[in-house]
Amino acid sequence: MSTEEKSIGGYSFEEYVEIVKTFHGSSAPGVILGGVMVEEAKRHLPEGKLFDAICETRVCLPDAVQLLTPCTIGNGWLYIEDFGRFAITLYDKETGEGIRVHLDVDKLPQAPEIEAWFMKKKKKGEQNLDKILKEIKEKGEKLLSVSRVHVRPDRYRRLKTGPVAICPQCKEAYPARDGVICRACSSQ
Ligand SMILES: [Zn+2]
Repeated sequence: MSTEEKSIGGYSFEEYVEIVKTFHGSSAPGVILGGVMVEEAKRHLPEGKLFDAICETRVCLPDAVQLLTPCTIGNGWLYIEDFGRFAITLYDKETGEGIRVHLDVDKLPQAPEIEAWFMKKKKKGEQNLDKILKEIKEKGEKLLSVSRVHVRPDRYRRLKTGPVAICPQCKEAYPARDGVICRACSSQ
């Protein structure tokens, strides 16, 4: 371990692991590593500005973003673009300028337990969670690649809900723009 204590969002590494356990239901490596990724992205961005977030997978990473930034799915500042890639982007919604961080498979061999987990080379029962977490703590950021990106601001702008209608079939409220009945009823 390095002499410098690793912190994630102001928490110690161990505190963050506990928070993830409570929020996510387990100390899933993806959420722990996701925390390292959020930290890395923040390090490349000016302090004191608000950023929107994009996760390129719906697995694990959104929870790290929601724990460590003001961005949530509910408030619309976190958008999931489900490409199935283990990457997050934080960007300035006014300018579209941002930082994308992804887990770099070229760098994975230096962390064999993380590689075995991420590349599914070991079955879940054969993985050693303590070793995976130790590797994340000791060399998590060395496995990442960071790039500057430009996000098209109109691409992820939150849609206004607009007028509300009552669905004649289920009697529940829904966005009127969806048509004469709600989407749940029309998809039956
Ligand atoms: Zn309905």
